[in-house]
Amino acid sequence: MTQETILKGLVLSFTGSPFDGTPEEAVVLHEAVALSAGKIAATGAADSLTATYPQASVTDHGEKLILAGFVDAHVHYPQTAMIASWGKRLIDWLNLYTFPEEMKFGSPDYAMDIATRYLDITAAHGTTTMCSFCTIHPESVDAFFLAAKARGQRVVAGKTCMDRNAPDGLRDTARSAYDQSKALLEKWHGTDRISYAITPRFSPTSTPEQLEAMGALWAEHPDCLMQTHLSEQTDEIDWVRSLFPDARDYLDTYEAHGLLGAYGLYGHAIHLEPRERDRLREHGAALIHCPTSNTFIGSGLFDMAGLMAEGQRIGLATDTGGGSSFSMLRTMAAAYEVGQLRGAALHPAQLLWLATVGSARSLRMEDRIGNLTPGMEADLIVLDLASTPAIAQRHEEASQFWEAVFPTIMKGDDRAIAEVWIGGRKVAHQMMG
Ligand SMILES: [Zn+2]
Repeated sequence: MTQETILKGLVLSFTGSPFDGTPEEAVVLHEAVALSAGKIAATGAADSLTATYPQASVTDHGEKLILAGFVDAHVHYPQTAMIASWGKRLIDWLNLYTFPEEMKFGSPDYAMDIATRYLDITAAHGTTTMCSFCTIHPESVDAFFLAAKARGQRVVAGKTCMDRNAPDGLRDTARSAYDQSKALLEKWHGTDRISYAITPRFSPTSTPEQLEAMGALWAEHPDCLMQTHLSEQTDEIDWVRSLFPDARDYLDTYEAHGLLGAYGLYGHAIHLEPRERDRLREHGAALIHCPTSNTFIGSGLFDMAGLMAEGQRIGLATDTGGGSSFSMLRTMAAAYEVGQLRGAALHPAQLLWLATVGSARSLRMEDRIGNLTPGMEADLIVLDLASTPAIAQRHEEASQFWEAVFPTIMKGDDRAIAEVWIGGRKVAHQMMG
């Protein structure tokens, strides 16, 4: 018999996008949520849920906020151990810090150690789904999926493909990238809660032949996501221009090789040309905003307000370890700060939506994760809105709901995550660090 669970508290569901119309009106607060068989069974009045599920175990979380687990739409789990490395911009940062670390992932044991560490740390920060780059080694993909499978976690990942401008030991070829990606895709995609993403790192590290091979694989598996990077730094864009002299712009290096589509995820997307914006929108491709990374590596300020207004599909991400934090709360704070620097103050409802529904939409998984509505998978978190003395004293002064939530968005971290539930099961505290 299935044991039902009822969690009482401030249960937050989105009924629409807070970027359309008045942000507050996109949110409804319930008294309780009922979980059954790994899914959200119901939300509503506490009395009515306890009457419907008389056998359920009931926990009252009082004034804590209960919402969908965070969805991190762009990470590099292999960069866990070198997060917060000092003083470089993109190209030097890759060469000095990233590539030497990624070299280690040919070892299945090392890959499993880091995958486990990464999933422990992110669970402690309330992230229940992520879309990760791995390394060129198939072992790095197997390790990540095995670790996620053991936790019943919904994840997306893929083998990072590079056949030029990377050191010895970190290059594949057009042929081996295709063959290894295809084998991993056929082994993992659609098993348990695992999805495969075709993953060329970015145009500077792939020859046109490799991009073509990735495009061919995507055409054979159009239900797979494809993830890469786009227009992060101006130096990088100049480099792409020199490597692809015939391309109209950076996006064209993907588009010309079959790598632009509705299931495409383009990390950063800061310095876009008008043509690129038009083509991304026409395809319904997803732009992934990585604000802590963009300030940490000095990349630039994402145009959230302008891109949202023109109808782009946008997700939010840490970009671990180019990003400086594993926390989606810290990432929301950085998105707010970047918005302010561009003259647009994001409402807290918009920030929470980006970290849940928005990222789930970018992964084309909004019918399964990212919101607390009946039938969705039961990935959720309990957020303490007074988790430190500094936050608690500000929370105390709040006269309305969003004023009570915003200090945790701006100042919260893993201490604000009181509980995490993945697939209807509570994550054990020792796994949360
Ligand atoms: Zn990245």
